[in-house]
Amino acid sequence: MEVLLVAAFAVSAAVAGAATVVNRLRRWQSPLSGVNAFMGAGVAVMSVLGLVQVLAPGPTGAWPAAAVSFVVSAAVVASVLCLSMIVSNRAWRVSRRTVLLLAADPVAVAVMALTDPLHHLFFAGFEPAGPAGMFVSAPGPAAWLHTAYVYVLLSASLALVVRARRHAPRGGRQVHAWTVAAFVPPVVANIAVMSSPVLLPDLTAIGLAVTMVIAYGAMVRSLPQQQIQVAHGQVFDTITDAVAVLDSSGLVLNVNASARRLLRRAGLPEQVIGVPLGETLGLGLALSEGGDTEQTMVNALGRGVDLHVRTSVVRDRRGHCVGWVLAARDVTELNRRRREAEEANTRLRGQLETIEALRADLAEQAVRDPLTGLYNRRHLMETLAREVSRAVGEGTPLSLALIDVDHFKQINDTYGHGGGDTVLVHLARLLAGEVRHDDVVARYGGEEFVILLPGATAESAWERVDELRRRMGRAGIGVAGRPLSVTFSGGVAALVPGQEPSDLLRAADEALYEAKRLGRDRVERAVPGPPGATAAA
Ligand code: GH3
Ligand code: MG
Ligand code: MG
Repeated sequence: MEVLLVAAFAVSAAVAGAATVVNRLRRWQSPLSGVNAFMGAGVAVMSVLGLVQVLAPGPTGAWPAAAVSFVVSAAVVASVLCLSMIVSNRAWRVSRRTVLLLAADPVAVAVMALTDPLHHLFFAGFEPAGPAGMFVSAPGPAAWLHTAYVYVLLSASLALVVRARRHAPRGGRQVHAWTVAAFVPPVVANIAVMSSPVLLPDLTAIGLAVTMVIAYGAMVRSLPQQQIQVAHGQVFDTITDAVAVLDSSGLVLNVNASARRLLRRAGLPEQVIGVPLGETLGLGLALSEGGDTEQTMVNALGRGVDLHVRTSVVRDRRGHCVGWVLAARDVTELNRRRREAEEANTRLRGQLETIEALRADLAEQAVRDPLTGLYNRRHLMETLAREVSRAVGEGTPLSLALIDVDHFKQINDTYGHGGGDTVLVHLARLLAGEVRHDDVVARYGGEEFVILLPGATAESAWERVDELRRRMGRAGIGVAGRPLSVTFSGGVAALVPGQEPSDLLRAADEALYEAKRLGRDRVERAVPGPPGATAAA
């Protein structure tokens, strides 16, 4: 029995000592390691004192060791509360006030245990325990009081960790489970000693050594989580988006550096933690549990700041909304540039439309005769070439009529150039208004006009042009306030295979000449035949 206890206390001292050294070396990595190192040192001392108690020859040797061990264990228990505080709240640090408060019990224990020979309130008397003859004390009333306090403290610590675990994010709960497990060994050791039928030395130190191993494991396991948390914190404060974390009632829990800068720029108070954000800033934020939303708030802060706000719901494990994260981006500059771009775009589009209209106008002017609005000679020649090759390719007829106003010089001489122009415009309207859709009417030059009649044979072309001639003769043209009767002569020619466009024109011209020769106010057909054949009646 004695050998077993000596071995257990020796191993416990070694483990706690090692834990102290390792935690001390790694103290920069975790806030837990400082407390762990303190606990380790305490447990190592307790284990060595346990060893002294086992090996002490009588109550004279066991008593001081037991007394000091009680003081140290009281300090270790106080450090357990600190450990639980850190596990449940990473931002918590041991303050001087906490140290003073928690030191009350160890100091009281020190006073009572070390002065025990005077009052015997702490130890009920040392008795030899077991066959080894080691001297062990039964607790006195003061020791019971201390034990009760220890259990209250441990229960509070355990409750803290359990509660923190419930609120911890998924994936961040391991450290809590390890910490709860760390409570078990000393409690089991303590209960075992108290409920043992034979008197045993205090084995809490051995239980606490096991706790040290578990606590060290917890710390190592939680390191990546802590690093992630630190990284999250850094990202939170370095991103350019303004981020605010709200609780479920809309109160601000935290804002990042960008948010504070944004508030400062908008001339608003930077201290918004604990403030209902929407109300205070006058933001018409729509916080709904439905899910993530995006809203652009124009002039949201009343100082010409446009915000794009992304709202995402924070949910607990059961999916209930426990708050919101708002990520706001200042889009004032972006909106301004977009507006400018839109305006420039509208301007450009207008300019483009004007240019296109001008271009179309120019293109139209290039093919039109300014006086009559009919196609000009250049356009006629292009169309004629195209229609000739089409008629040849498709084997369809194509006719051309050349029209010339009779005695036009006389009209000019009598009514002036303006009077002549009126006649030309009148004739142009008559021709353009009466021809078919496919026909092309052009001013060939002076008082000469051409009608190109695709699909028309010489006969049908003659009939249609002659009808136009009769209409012209019937219509009185108002010149100088008087109705003037004007006639024209026409020559019609149909395309003969092998003819060039110029041949067709020449044939029509010859037929026109024949119409003039035969007395004017008539339409003549060209004699079909080889190019250059003489027109006949
Ligand atoms: P004919 O019956 O033989 O055709 O006799 P004509 O007088 O019509 O023939 P001529 O070729 O001698 O006369 C054509 C005139 O048309 C000569 C020219 O001054 C006139 N003229 C040419 N272009 C224009 C124009 O744009 N406006 C006006 N008013 N006269 C024009
Ligand atoms: Mg003429
Ligand atoms: Mg003429």
